[in-house]
Amino acid sequence: MVDRHSRAYPIELISFNINATKAIFSPPQILSRICLLRIVTLPIVPLRSKNYTFLFDSPVFRVSNMMFSHLISFLALLGTAHIAVAAPMPDPSAEPEIELLRRQGLANVYSSCTVPNTVAITFDDGPYNYNWDLVDTLNNNGVKATFFVNGNNWRCIYDDDMVAALRHAYDSGHLIASHTWAHLNLAEQSWDKIHDEMWKVELALSRIIGVEPAWMRPPYGSYNDLVRSASAIRNQNLVIWDFDSGDSTGASADESKGNYWNIANSRPDTILTLNHETYASTVYDVIPYAISQLQSKGYNLVTVAECLGQPAYHSVFGRGEKDSSWVC
Ligand SMILES: [Zn+2]
Repeated sequence: MVDRHSRAYPIELISFNINATKAIFSPPQILSRICLLRIVTLPIVPLRSKNYTFLFDSPVFRVSNMMFSHLISFLALLGTAHIAVAAPMPDPSAEPEIELLRRQGLANVYSSCTVPNTVAITFDDGPYNYNWDLVDTLNNNGVKATFFVNGNNWRCIYDDDMVAALRHAYDSGHLIASHTWAHLNLAEQSWDKIHDEMWKVELALSRIIGVEPAWMRPPYGSYNDLVRSASAIRNQNLVIWDFDSGDSTGASADESKGNYWNIANSRPDTILTLNHETYASTVYDVIPYAISQLQSKGYNLVTVAECLGQPAYHSVFGRGEKDSSWVC
């Protein structure tokens, strides 16, 4: 397996930064302002400095001459003002690199499914100890779900039992997507750190199941344009949710089940759910109930990619064999 560390800092970024530097100093703008001012004002300078007043060499025209000088100066100022309006200098407080990245493209952010009559059940923060059992429950009910996995959060993704669990889930047809490496708040991270958090999970998924992810859920659902820019460069779109079971924010199992009962009976056209596979109550109590409720309402329980009508992965290839480099 090729180590893809070199892909962590895409080459496109170098050209962005060069362009940003050009935009900051922008010599053509400065020169154009200076040159026009000199072109307009130079003809009058010799007249004034050498007192060439032959054109207006009479007491009557001396006043006009003075007025003419003022008029030319005024026109020169107008010319400067015109150029200033046409080509304003960049705001020094702006962040040109971010602006240029924004123009290059932002990853899409999906909060809801688009394919009618679908529910995407998603699980964050794994892989964890209950993953294998959870996948069995999903399989036994004919449900396809999505796992947004971390590299090093509750467990290390390279632990033998986690590798086995991920392969079990993938081989069962569930979607494996990225929740980034260490569950940091990406909106608070630098450009380099965002890429680092993303590529380490990409590397792990390429080794363990042989895919490049197409979907990423930022931890805490927190993102900004820098995160979206990095995700676009890395060929991943962002997925949030429009229904939270509440398991990570203090809801009891009964409360989460109540939430599922409510959403199932309000019967929206689609639902994109948030759950966490790290809670035993979610895996063994809430999800079996949620599946029965949602299926009784006639929904198709599918992966995020299926509920959006898009490909599951950016690319798929052969999986690797574990070696000493597979460490968290
Ligand atoms: Zn999370």
